[in-house]
Amino acid sequence: MIQQEMLTYQQLDGELNRIERELKKNENFVKRRQYKAASQECEESIARLDARASELKIQLAQAQQTVQKITEVIEEHSKEIGNLQDVDELNYMNKKLNEQISELNNADKEIRRILREGEEIAQAFEEASAKLPRLVAGYRKSDEEFNKAAADVKPRVAEIRARQAELKKAIDENIFNIYKKVADGGLYPVFVPLEDGTRCGGCRMEMPKAAVDAQFAGKPYMRCEHCGRIIFKKE
Ligand SMILES: [Zn+2]
Repeated sequence: MIQQEMLTYQQLDGELNRIERELKKNENFVKRRQYKAASQECEESIARLDARASELKIQLAQAQQTVQKITEVIEEHSKEIGNLQDVDELNYMNKKLNEQISELNNADKEIRRILREGEEIAQAFEEASAKLPRLVAGYRKSDEEFNKAAADVKPRVAEIRARQAELKKAIDENIFNIYKKVADGGLYPVFVPLEDGTRCGGCRMEMPKAAVDAQFAGKPYMRCEHCGRIIFKKE
């Protein structure tokens, strides 16, 4: 049979699991996670807006430079036109001047687009910056509240762990190691009784009696092939 110490150890693990589940259901645990995600998202959005604002700044400087260059060319063309007499040359220069004016219009449109986007970015930046402190404060508050709830159960958790450390000394190492491996996989309980001589007390899988008897030959336990739990015979 499985040692009583092992079963008590498992029972205490069950209590630890319950405590942990309860804490995770705590409203402040949930809120804390939500606030954390929201403030991370907000920070990321601020960083993105910041990066975009830098890009726009460069684009604006480039567009302004383009306007400057075009303006200079237009001034030159205008001067040249003033000195021209030949109609063909005048027409040619006029055409070139119109091309420059059209480019100037495009550059102007580009500047207005940049400024428009800049305004949108500035507004979004302001909104996000105003939101962030609220989210951070919300996180801190729910964190504080949750820590209070966690502190409430701390003495009991410490008591359980101390008791488990005591029990472990008396538990067969091999059995304990198997237990830990299965328990770490998320199964609880790990040790289950054999039911009606042929059924796993965990997953209820029915097994042939001959197979069960063969498995138990010379051993106090068997592994359930279906769920991996450790099955023991009740006294
Ligand atoms: Zn099973």
